[in-house]
Amino acid sequence: MAASPEAVARAIAPAGLGPQKAPRIIEVLRRIAADPRAKGRPDLGFLAGMADAEAVEYLTDLPGVGPKTAACVLLFALGRPVFPVDTHIHRIAIRLGLVPAKLDAAKTQKAFDEVMQETANAADVKAAPLGAEACHELHINLITHGREVCQARRPDCARCALTDLCPAASEPRRADESE
Ligand code: SF4
Repeated sequence: MAASPEAVARAIAPAGLGPQKAPRIIEVLRRIAADPRAKGRPDLGFLAGMADAEAVEYLTDLPGVGPKTAACVLLFALGRPVFPVDTHIHRIAIRLGLVPAKLDAAKTQKAFDEVMQETANAADVKAAPLGAEACHELHINLITHGREVCQARRPDCARCALTDLCPAASEPRRADESE
């Protein structure tokens, strides 16, 4: 919070966009610390007492924080069953036909959240209810899938485990890969 933008930019350089993110991070920390509920510290612990919608509203009011980042805070820091949709997940969801091609990332996130909630609340669900753990696992697995297989420019459909389910598959899996 007290560091210079240059020092913060250097510290976060491996994540990219350091010069753009650094002033926002400092401002976000200052705003959090200025909230009476944070008692002078850049500590978001007070979010734990908020409902999801209220916490998202608070977070997205901070500079540079959009729905995906807010959902990441709820999932990773608060253990809530929400589903952050990044660019990889958005692309895969469209290719798999899970959401319409024109649905933006924020609405795709809402659609995933609703499915997770419906499944968690369903009395007759055979599998274990999908909670934060399932959201976390699916989020990480889909990002890995997007980075390593279903890449933006050249999806490697020939080695994709989802070919049989995917209307956008460009090549059938080879017979020796079908098990
Ligand atoms: S079959 Fe191809 S387009 Fe569909 S999810 Fe797999 S890699 Fe992506």
